[in-house]
Amino acid sequence: MTRPFDLDPLFQALTSLPGIGPRNGKYLERLIGGARIYDLLCHLPVDMVDRRHIPKLAEAKAGEIVTLALHVTAHTPAPRRNLPHRISCRDDTGTVHLVFFHGNKDWLVRQYPAGQDIAVSGRLEDYNGKLQIVHPETAGPKEDISKIARVEPIYPLTSGITNKTLSRAMDGALRHIPNLPEWLDPEFKSRRDFPSWGESLRSVHTPQEEEDFLALGQNRMRLAYDELLANQLALGLARLRAKKKQGKAMAPTGALRNRFLDHLPFQLTAAQSRVLEEIDADMTAPERMMRLLQGDVGSGKTVMAALSMLSALENGYQAALMAPTEILARQHAQTLTPMMEALGLRIVTLTGRDKGKSREVLLGQIKNGAAQIVIGTHALFKEDVAFENLGMAVIDEQHRFGVHQRMQLSAKGGAVDMLVMTATPIPRTLALTAYGDMDVSRIDEKPPGRKPIDTRILSKDRIAQMIESLKSQIQTGSRIYWVCPLVEESEMLEVSAAQERFEILESVFPGRVGLVHGRMKPAEKDDVMAKFSAGEIDILVATTVIEVGVNVPEATIMVIEHAERFGLAQLHQLRGRVGRGMDKSFCFLIHNGKLGEVAKERLKIMRESEDGFLIAEKDLELRGSGEMLGTRQSGLPIFKLADRSVHRDLLAAARDDVKLILSRDPALKSERGIALRNLLYLFERDQAIRYLQSGG
Ligand code: ADP
Ligand code: MG
Repeated sequence: MTRPFDLDPLFQALTSLPGIGPRNGKYLERLIGGARIYDLLCHLPVDMVDRRHIPKLAEAKAGEIVTLALHVTAHTPAPRRNLPHRISCRDDTGTVHLVFFHGNKDWLVRQYPAGQDIAVSGRLEDYNGKLQIVHPETAGPKEDISKIARVEPIYPLTSGITNKTLSRAMDGALRHIPNLPEWLDPEFKSRRDFPSWGESLRSVHTPQEEEDFLALGQNRMRLAYDELLANQLALGLARLRAKKKQGKAMAPTGALRNRFLDHLPFQLTAAQSRVLEEIDADMTAPERMMRLLQGDVGSGKTVMAALSMLSALENGYQAALMAPTEILARQHAQTLTPMMEALGLRIVTLTGRDKGKSREVLLGQIKNGAAQIVIGTHALFKEDVAFENLGMAVIDEQHRFGVHQRMQLSAKGGAVDMLVMTATPIPRTLALTAYGDMDVSRIDEKPPGRKPIDTRILSKDRIAQMIESLKSQIQTGSRIYWVCPLVEESEMLEVSAAQERFEILESVFPGRVGLVHGRMKPAEKDDVMAKFSAGEIDILVATTVIEVGVNVPEATIMVIEHAERFGLAQLHQLRGRVGRGMDKSFCFLIHNGKLGEVAKERLKIMRESEDGFLIAEKDLELRGSGEMLGTRQSGLPIFKLADRSVHRDLLAAARDDVKLILSRDPALKSERGIALRNLLYLFERDQAIRYLQSGG
């Protein structure tokens, strides 16, 4: 299936647009996050300047944006540097000065020749009772007044791109919009009173009023819906394809699970039991399981993983557990190995670090089935990893893997049952955008006996004082995590900040401080983590690599620097590293001292709540989901047209829409189905189109 020709104009390079060359084309590409004309069309205005008001000078008021038809009468060049060049102009009702600071006199005289009729636009000011415009934004010969007196959309910009350049390119791009068949359900479209796709795009970029580009206006709603529909449709197709594969019926027999539960030092919580029933029902059914398990940090997901893997083993299959990092894989191995070996089971760990001979041996055991449970990292995705009969795969803390990686792993065993576990408290509506291909279970209760974490917010000028107070804490045996600032743009900067903090702390607590960061070799990281875990060091300075999953019950203090830079969900995850043992725990959120209102409000939420879902919801309300998790960490799709905090109900509608579409026309062959394929192409969901192609 090749892309329909109709779409070609939208897929052309930006450099084919007026005013865009190879150099500013690169800037533009970075700004809009794409190289196609369609990507430019998805770059939406955030404001507008209305230049349609064309008053006579007698009726014009200071403060207004106006477009004026004027006659140039005289120039008064700047008498001194720092004084402006003035151009006197008039119409038949009054006079006005055009004022230029640091202007080039010759250029100004040429541009505004005395005796000429011109049109200018800008903001009128009152200067000692005289009207003036300082640096008019647009000017031209009088005949151009209707071109100048328009509404100018204002776009987000970057250096190297002015609003003029961008607007001009956009005018060009608008001419590339083809007539595409409508992909929305006609009844839905008319009920919502949505314009067509082409009209929405044109109108959003040539606004006549704010409504035309505001998030809640009809144009934006339509375009947001399209994007969400593409997202849900792609996930729906992935899910359909996954489900179509015959799964394995793996009803738990209890042969292993009952013994495992007997060994557990605790009872499952009600929430864990409920989730286990949901998983069991999926595994028992012959369709394959595609289930997302959401559970806050410390809610006890590991046990769920163990129990579901045991069901697979009871049915004669192998099971795999995959973690996003080496440290986490090792930690799971540490927890699970004794439990599984107590049941007489063989469990192995495969990570990127296993090389050569030892890797060969492991691969052999996985392939011949001797290894019944395999724990690993991405290394399990590798092509040469073959299982004897993989029945189920658990992916832990997996917000860093995407849909396609899930598919990749599941391909290893025909149709493996999948359980994806995440501690990221993504609100249900948002979960749809990343996990719409899955059913969702939620552990919404913590194991009993957890003590609340005392969260304090302080400004960075109190760090020295706080370090002082840590001395007594360490004497009583506390262990401390110290998380250094997140630097989205540069891992190197992040590392050097951590290094610096390490040195400061090391000088106060010689020999008691360790450092882990993303640039270290895995073995070195593990080594430091192990020392922290064993109590050989008391303070662990880290970049966000410790974020997920690490379990050191003796750690009772979490310090987070530049807390205002983190998403609340991340702060919550980090804080979840403490409060796991018997002792009272603390979390110190250190900020840079000058917080805005929203930032203050956000940190306050952290102090007041320990409920990950509540925190995520509030964060979403406060600043919109784009930033909710910190893009680097989130794994959530990035939307250009939809704003998750505003267009949430559209998402639910898109999900329902897709359900209906796929139940009637799973191969997208109907008239509407074919129109919908265009939508998938526009949003580069080519993978989903390939699912259609391969038919299975
Ligand atoms: P997470 O969901 O963050 O992966 P873990 O599975 O690591 O959480 O569990 C956190 C801690 O809680 C572990 O020490 C685990 O043994 C313990 N735990 C899990 N379930 C229960 C329970 N039902 N009762 C008491 N403790 C539990
Ligand atoms: Mg965990």
